[in-house]
Amino acid sequence: MKCRICRETAVIALPRHNSAFCKEHFLDFFKRQVQRAIREFRMFSRKDRILVCVSGGKDSLTLWHILHELNYDTTGLYIDLGIGEYSKRSRRLCEDMAKSLGRELKVVEFSKAVAPIKDLARAAKRTDCSTCGVVKRYYFNKVALEEGYNVVATGHNLDDEAARLLGNLLRWQLEFVQKQYPVLEEEKGLKRKVKPLCRLTEQEIAAYAFLNRITYLRDECPMSHDSTSLLYKEALNRIELQSPGTKHFFYLQFLYRKRKGNLKGLSENAAVEPDGAETGDSKGGPFQCRVCGLPSSGQICSFCKITGYLDKSDQTPYEHA
Ligand code: AMP
Ligand code: ZN
Ligand code: ZN
Repeated sequence: MKCRICRETAVIALPRHNSAFCKEHFLDFFKRQVQRAIREFRMFSRKDRILVCVSGGKDSLTLWHILHELNYDTTGLYIDLGIGEYSKRSRRLCEDMAKSLGRELKVVEFSKAVAPIKDLARAAKRTDCSTCGVVKRYYFNKVALEEGYNVVATGHNLDDEAARLLGNLLRWQLEFVQKQYPVLEEEKGLKRKVKPLCRLTEQEIAAYAFLNRITYLRDECPMSHDSTSLLYKEALNRIELQSPGTKHFFYLQFLYRKRKGNLKGLSENAAVEPDGAETGDSKGGPFQCRVCGLPSSGQICSFCKITGYLDKSDQTPYEHA
């Protein structure tokens, strides 16, 4: 297998692009895909202060690494959710990355100051994953608002986004399809959110992490029960194996058509349950939460509703590493 560009021995085959690359040209390809996403979706510029949300997994650590390589102004944000050894190890890996990049990592001590996420989920009678989602989205926005970051970046990749699109289409949740995009502009008190790795697959990100010696946590979160998104990813991977390029076409054509305005009117008269948790995005709104003062779609925001089931009330537990 030879590199498409220099004909040296290739280190990775990319059937979806019908090509293979050596280390140097793969890293070049990777960088170009990230820059293209940033440019195409007008995510941010070198003047912006970017808060990179890192979990200790390969996607978010790779994201931080590449944005730093590309000379963007980045700060890491890690939320300690108190999931035993898993959280301890993931926090350490984020701290290691901060040190090696020479950048600051902010840590939200959520489990110490409020409660371990499992206890909160039990008290609020919600699933672990949906509770975790509310807490993470809340702090992504809160820290950015309070500390003057204009963009919040997460490590979602092409596989994540394609699986989400498939899930939304299988359930005819057209309102969510309409909202799904790698950039959510700042509105209603919510900071701009971006997904700069949306053009890259899990396999490509793992290769980037390997070639750059990035140490990351390989284990899935032990609380993760979101088996439907894994099922959709597996289904797309099976199709991809038989028909390389399908996954990429499915998602990137969706983005392309959306950008051109071809999907306008998609959600008109759509019959959907307005459940913000499913969209993966915090719901800002016309109200200020009566408890914490942050944007909310109702009188009290989801975060304050669920933490209201606990007695403790200190909800600003972040420190700097
Ligand atoms: P997940 O919701 O676990 O699929 O993660 C999606 C993205 O959210 C990751 O790529 C990270 O950017 C971010 N993220 C997940 N967990 C954390 C965490 N504990 N602290 C900060 N950011 C996180
Ligand atoms: Zn080459
Ligand atoms: Zn609130």
